[in-house]
Amino acid sequence: MIEMVNIHKKFKEAHVLKGVDLKVAKGEVLVIVGPSGSGKSTLLRCINGLEKTTEGHIFFEGDDITDKKVNINKIRQKIGMVFQQFNLFPHLTVLDNITFAPRKVLNVSKKEAEELARELLKKVGLEGKENQYPIQLSGGQQQRVAIARALAMKPDAMLFDEPTSALDPELVKEVLDVMKQLAYEGMTMVVVTHEMGFAKEVGDRLIFIDDGQILEDGNPSDVFSNPKNERTKNFFGKIL
Ligand code: ADP
Ligand code: MG
Repeated sequence: MIEMVNIHKKFKEAHVLKGVDLKVAKGEVLVIVGPSGSGKSTLLRCINGLEKTTEGHIFFEGDDITDKKVNINKIRQKIGMVFQQFNLFPHLTVLDNITFAPRKVLNVSKKEAEELARELLKKVGLEGKENQYPIQLSGGQQQRVAIARALAMKPDAMLFDEPTSALDPELVKEVLDVMKQLAYEGMTMVVVTHEMGFAKEVGDRLIFIDDGQILEDGNPSDVFSNPKNERTKNFFGKIL
């Protein structure tokens, strides 16, 4: 579903991604771990075209998104993204946050968009919160709204950038549970997280990235128990 071939990304003199090759199969849950500043967010942002790559190709369902002729907006609709800081629209209710993009971008009718939004709210355990504003919700609830909002576009893949890092510890599980459910339903997911329990239980594969390069790629439990690289061992030693 996703294929990155020799991806390089430079911001002026900073060489942030240094030849990343990566494939994600349909239905696969790929977990990305790595130190702060190693390029994890940049990698995700390249996948949905929020950042332009300096070199290399990225294919999404066969289309080369680095090709200037490709309609990146069309492709981006197929890729949901969830951020560390939720990024909900503060002036819109929960319901309007979820229906906004389907109505504006896909021209779905108000009625149909609201029906789907209510279904999604139920799915993420937030029935009855339709008319609340983001500020009235806990971080865990806001993040679940953000997931529902992304799902409302009926994406083929979901990217998560440290979705639980900004949450109080007691709110982490409710978000991970929603993600787990999504994974079991067959969603293709790329998840940057340091939640190692989630990685082992839900992840099909784990990559460790350091200084813009993939140093490990394998089954999560194998990578944890038997990292090939000294830098990976060092990193796991700090977080586990
Ligand atoms: P991670 O998500 O692994 O913490 P990032 O992908 O956010 O890492 O960042 C990797 C490196 O790229 C960092 O050194 C960061 O400062 C740099 N970087 C990220 N975005 C930009 C940008 N827009 N302009 C310049 N440098 C950036
Ligand atoms: Mg990041």
